[in-house]
Amino acid sequence: MKFELPKLPYEMGSLEPFISKRTLEFHYGKHHQTYVNNLNNLISETKFGNSELEKIIMEAEGPIFNNAAQVWNHTFYFMSLKKVNECGPKDILAEAINKSFGSFLDLKDAFTKASVSLFGSGWVWLVKNQNGLLEIIQESNAGNPLRKRLKPILTCDVWEHAYYLDYQNKRNEYIDAFWSLINWEVIEKRFI
Ligand code: MN
Repeated sequence: MKFELPKLPYEMGSLEPFISKRTLEFHYGKHHQTYVNNLNNLISETKFGNSELEKIIMEAEGPIFNNAAQVWNHTFYFMSLKKVNECGPKDILAEAINKSFGSFLDLKDAFTKASVSLFGSGWVWLVKNQNGLLEIIQESNAGNPLRKRLKPILTCDVWEHAYYLDYQNKRNEYIDAFWSLINWEVIEKRFI
């Protein structure tokens, strides 16, 4: 199996002004593509040569895990976004958020705090746990909640390459922008 960069469901400029076309050209076009290329090179001639991506994430270690998880995480992140919108979570997802965090604003506040306080490179995740409740977790580097048997619902990439061209050191401004770009229909489908 040879992995490929997934096609985005939006144009590169459509997340502006919050995430620039230039950032997407690097982040999706170069960084994400490089993880795909690295993974294909690393797994050829190994037992993972014909494995599904999730199986590699669950079983591999070291560079194969890192590149496989980065491929999966970036696809999940880019597919969470759409052009700036005023929508929020609805119906069953809104209910689950209220039950788990108190309110949507409490979720946003906790997710933002987790994103700003994550030291170094990594990912902040909204996940569904085995009791059906939502939780926020931080993962360093390529970390992925599948390894903890948690169901990923939403993620924000807080590696500097995700925001440095647009926001330099101001990660908090990037996180604010991220909240305006979430495609809640996609997020709800993942939750159900
Ligand atoms: Mn990234």
